[in-house]
Amino acid sequence: MGLLSLGTPLPWAEAQPLASFVRDEGIEQLINIYSRCKDKQGDVLLWGDELEYMVVSLDKSAKTARLSLRQAEILEQLAQKEAQGSLGPVTYHPEYGRFMLEATPAAPFTGAPTDLLNVQPNMQLRRSIARKNLLPNEVPLTVTSYPRLGVVNSPFTEPFYPPNGPAARSDFLPDEVINPHARFPTLTANIRTRRGSKVSIDVPIFVDSQTPRPFVDHGPENYIHMDAMGFGMGCCCLQLTFQATNITEARTLYDQLAPLAPLMLALTAASPAYRGYLSDQDTRWNVISGAVDDRTPWERGLVPPPEGFTTDNSDVVIPKSRYDSVDSYLAQDPVLLADEAHYNDTKLVVNKRALKRLDDAGFDPLLAQHFAHLFIRDPIVIFRELLHQDNSTSADHFENIQSTNWQTLRFKPPPPGSDIGWRVEFRPMEVQATDFENAAFTVFIVLLTRVILSYKLNFYMPISKVDENMRVAHHRDAVLNETFWFRKNVQRDSPKEYTKLSLDALVNGSDEFPGFIPLIRRFLAATSVDLDTLCELSKYLSLVSKRASGALPTNASWIRQFVTSHEDYKQDSAISESVNYALMSELDRLTQADTPPGGT
Ligand code: GLU
Ligand code: MG
Repeated sequence: MGLLSLGTPLPWAEAQPLASFVRDEGIEQLINIYSRCKDKQGDVLLWGDELEYMVVSLDKSAKTARLSLRQAEILEQLAQKEAQGSLGPVTYHPEYGRFMLEATPAAPFTGAPTDLLNVQPNMQLRRSIARKNLLPNEVPLTVTSYPRLGVVNSPFTEPFYPPNGPAARSDFLPDEVINPHARFPTLTANIRTRRGSKVSIDVPIFVDSQTPRPFVDHGPENYIHMDAMGFGMGCCCLQLTFQATNITEARTLYDQLAPLAPLMLALTAASPAYRGYLSDQDTRWNVISGAVDDRTPWERGLVPPPEGFTTDNSDVVIPKSRYDSVDSYLAQDPVLLADEAHYNDTKLVVNKRALKRLDDAGFDPLLAQHFAHLFIRDPIVIFRELLHQDNSTSADHFENIQSTNWQTLRFKPPPPGSDIGWRVEFRPMEVQATDFENAAFTVFIVLLTRVILSYKLNFYMPISKVDENMRVAHHRDAVLNETFWFRKNVQRDSPKEYTKLSLDALVNGSDEFPGFIPLIRRFLAATSVDLDTLCELSKYLSLVSKRASGALPTNASWIRQFVTSHEDYKQDSAISESVNYALMSELDRLTQADTPPGGT
């Protein structure tokens, strides 16, 4: 989750006065990158995935599951082996939670369809190496939200620590769940300090026959309450990054993937439980959104700004958290340019100073407003030693703002001093329990990007409708019960008409809509992919297809079903220690066999 700079992180009182300086320098760094790389051509399609894991410690005799806080030792051990060259084509990274690991392929995959068949084996290798470097009772699970993170009066970490540390001041989470690298506790404390209060997240309770009515937790009635960054950034996901052949293609990819984000969030839904309760929603997104919401009360529109308040932003009120869906399209696409106000139809707050500078530097309006929008945020963590940089070789200040805008997509300029091209990161998907499933969703999205670019598909629709889909994607069993806005006709020159379709229709096609999988199959049939490869790819497409049609449950639906049908469950929405242990053990079993919960 962003760069790990070394140095002394400044507390908020010292960081805030430097915010404008960091933004100004960051914009200069961006301008330098842009002028160097805007005409960079001929980069090849490369892509990679990131998987996030929780290390869970299972005690078979006590029948307990705990989050293991050994991230540092585990990563240290893996790094040593990597340095000796004994890991193979995989690599491991830290994450926010001290119980988390992240793993990626060591080198990116290529666009060759046969490379798509390397994804699952690579994911399996990542997991098996991780497992070998854990204690015998620890297991690496790709669980999106840990059901008992933050339960009261019962340990959920190994070792146990009481809550209420100086960084999060949480009533539920100890600061010891946070990666101890200075960046993370400082992010946590500075988000809280900037906001002026602890973060506050309320998720609706899933009401069962014995659930107390009203259900009273620590927040509003009938909601599960959370109060720390760790509840959000302690969630795991599956992300994909694509290198485009040039900036134009990267901008196209960004725009066309934006309307897909909510659909993929709903399809991969895997997080139906928080703080020991089943929730009435299936995805993590709004939890993380709330968990890093550093907006002040006036930026949230709750109170007028303090007297004498000034800002470079075009408005005091900022409608969304730093972690949220994207706010504007940015491609130089005739469809968009012909009717920009129709598609970019929500209020876009920009940093006026940044906008002017980018404008002067020759950025076109869409690209300038994209970055000027990201630059409405303050840099949360500033390292004293890194304040003064050479803007022609460094991107540190730019990245400070860029990498703490956690949106459904990230448009990534080439890092200075590398031969990496323009990239787009696809960030909404929830991590799936097994490598097969993670590979399936990865293959599906990679192929869909090929289809979008080859057929020049047109998924443009007003951003407000994408946002509406985003809200709907959280609903319990959204795949089965909800419909989503989409462009009626996805041809280039089609009229601006939108319709609400089920995920089944969108993915599998219907009388009204061609369907992503039929489009992918048509694309594959037209390429020279051999039969064996096609057959293998079909297994992945089939899983996605059945998830979309409801023939197979999402992870969220499967977890809810597992909990509610367990003999120890009391129909009261609570996930007890023994039910959680059973769930984690079953997930471990399925993961080792690489057979998806709910079947294939
Ligand atoms: N774990 C976060 C999520 O579930 C993403 C952190 C990152 O950007 O690496 O979305
Ligand atoms: Mg990550």
